[in-house]
Amino acid sequence: MYVCERGPRQGSLDSFLYEMAASSGVQFHLLAKLEVNKLEVDHNNIIATGLETEVYEQLGIPYVPIYGYRGVIRTELDAVLISYMLKCTNYDFAYLAAGYGLLFALLFSRKKLDSDNLQEFQQTLKDSEGIEFKKWIYSTGAVPTKTHLFYNGLVLAGTLSGMIDPFLLHGISGALTSGKIAAQTFVDREGASREFHLLAKNFVWKKGLKEVSTWIPFKNITFPVMMWTDAHLRGVGFVPFSGKD
Ligand SMILES: Cc1cc2nc3c(=O)[nH]c(=O)nc-3n(C[C@H](O)[C@H](O)[C@H](O)COP(=O)(O)OP(=O)(O)OC[C@H]3O[C@@H](n4cnc5c(N)ncnc54)[C@H](O)[C@@H]3O)c2cc1C
Repeated sequence: MYVCERGPRQGSLDSFLYEMAASSGVQFHLLAKLEVNKLEVDHNNIIATGLETEVYEQLGIPYVPIYGYRGVIRTELDAVLISYMLKCTNYDFAYLAAGYGLLFALLFSRKKLDSDNLQEFQQTLKDSEGIEFKKWIYSTGAVPTKTHLFYNGLVLAGTLSGMIDPFLLHGISGALTSGKIAAQTFVDREGASREFHLLAKNFVWKKGLKEVSTWIPFKNITFPVMMWTDAHLRGVGFVPFSGKD
């Protein structure tokens, strides 16, 4: 897992990429809403709208819904990263991370979360780390059930393309690598396709493993086995390790 800061602060990944793109001449239309049916397919369009359910609906991409609670507070803590796979996360994923003065927690699940899930997660954070968040933001979204670099003449990137790990829901590596691949399609379509399939090849295995881990009983014993198996499959969107890096 790689942890990154999202948002408008100087030093966040968003600010870093924004400045890099703007200095290369990219124009931003920050309030523009995507209207898929107005896109001309012979233009070079890359769509990367993340978890936004509406775009999956507009494009007709099959998806599963996703639910999340997130909280953020200021902190003196630094370099903290704890992942939680518990009953309250529905054996999906929650984490706590701190860096550069911010402490962030996310409870993320493909099964609906209710206030009991949140209360149990809050209690876990309090008991194990002595941490409390006063405010939690609830949001919903979608993740695709398959990977697609091309879809109806459009090029996809990021979560929408399926470059999100279906076992652990880690997304930033796949977002960055698939963004590069999406741009490559306009100069080297075959090479881009090859790279995409290499980086996405474990999607099906990890998705299958996730499905098994959801229904299999005796989670205290079986879930660690599933985690161990998953750890032996390279993450979706992760570049194969060459040994020289
Ligand atoms: C606060 C936060 C912290 C995170 N931390 C981590 C982390 O530490 N590690 C990790 O692996 N992942 C992390 N993630 C997840 C990671 O950021 C995503 O997996 C990744 O950014 C997905 O990239 P993407 O390009 O698919 O979508 P996004 O980065 O979500 O970008 C989608 C963009 O499309 C825009 N958009 C959506 N719908 C429309 C529309 N209809 N019209 C126009 N624009 C639209 C959105 O406004 C947004 O700018 C975090 C996410 C958040 C929000």
